[in-house]
Amino acid sequence: MKILTIIFFIILTLLCLTRTTLSQNPSPTNWFIITKFQCTSDKTKCDKVKNVINLAGKYITATLNFKLSIKINAGFLDLCKVRKCDVIDYNNVIASASPLMIKFNDTDGKMRSFPLALYKQIHSKYVAGDDITLIINSQKDYWFRGDPLPMPVGYVDLLYVVIHEFIHGLGFTNSWDDYPLKTALRPGFGDSPSQPLFVENIFDKFIVQTQNGKSLSSMTDELNQFQYNLTTYSDQDFINSFSKSPQFSIAQYVYNIANNTRGTMGLLLTSNIQPSNQLSPNQNDILLLETSILFNNGSSIGHVDMQTYNNTSDFLMVYSYTSGETLDDKMEKTGSTNTTGPIGPKLRRFLGVLGYDVKQSYTPPDINIGIHISFNLLLSFILDVILSSVLNLDFSKVFILKANPYILTI
Ligand SMILES: [Zn+2]
Repeated sequence: MKILTIIFFIILTLLCLTRTTLSQNPSPTNWFIITKFQCTSDKTKCDKVKNVINLAGKYITATLNFKLSIKINAGFLDLCKVRKCDVIDYNNVIASASPLMIKFNDTDGKMRSFPLALYKQIHSKYVAGDDITLIINSQKDYWFRGDPLPMPVGYVDLLYVVIHEFIHGLGFTNSWDDYPLKTALRPGFGDSPSQPLFVENIFDKFIVQTQNGKSLSSMTDELNQFQYNLTTYSDQDFINSFSKSPQFSIAQYVYNIANNTRGTMGLLLTSNIQPSNQLSPNQNDILLLETSILFNNGSSIGHVDMQTYNNTSDFLMVYSYTSGETLDDKMEKTGSTNTTGPIGPKLRRFLGVLGYDVKQSYTPPDINIGIHISFNLLLSFILDVILSSVLNLDFSKVFILKANPYILTI
């Protein structure tokens, strides 16, 4: 009884603290919370990495309004030891982000995979678990803001990398993949016989072919005409059956337009364009996707076109990091330091289309690190606890899986 009384008073105190804080400071400056942090380097370096992760959260919070905090499971580790380098060569990979994805029926009735981070904002529902698993390759040389300039050759500005990865974690993540077909693409697989065979990501819903405005979503529907029982899945069996189906040519077609052909597809930034319209690659309402390189799962489609955007304020989501340039250099060069920051105008629009609440204007975050940040983090935790206790969760229609990692190469 005594313990219960103590717990009651602790909760009451926290509620009072939150109410008082909300009236003084209604919005935390960082909604990204590190729930776990594995780091095998020395303490000084680990602290620097942690500070960068917090600062990246502040930059994104300066662009988006969140209702629930984004939980980050972070690691500063040797990627080759964490993931098998004999399967995929991670030596050139700087970092990877894996958003936790959940499948449910979208507003148009189609089942899609949503990142947990977005699901929580749209439905104001707390769901247990980390939103994003972020692994930074500790085997690279990093420059941290405040280190001497110019940044040495071959070094990477970690802040740039972490903001890029967080945007993947928030949903800038495609599902179309060549596995195990090699020269044909398919969206992600469903989780059970009650789901469609192919389930696309929410990101994929907005991809259109620039040539004719046709959506990739309509192709997912066509591919779902193919009948296959996933419970008996084997790579070879799937290849044999699918390659003989009438739907296989669609998967080959998508591979061809994603492979080594610039400007073939982009993200639609408005709903005003009719599906039959011819879209030009310079069209203002399109964010062109990376299709110029040889198809590479993790780089192709899930990034913006490097040639078009690398020297503009929408530089952030190109697939390859330009060595020698810090985030501050890029923002200054493209004139976005005080206008949109790292998240350029088209990316801002797309995050709004995805379902995030985009701030009207951008104010660069206060980069002083101290008690103020800790207090804001505490506030975010408290808000989550309160919301989780008052919201009634229905897990019966929610399926959780780990998404493939999306990576930034050097
Ligand atoms: Zn990336």
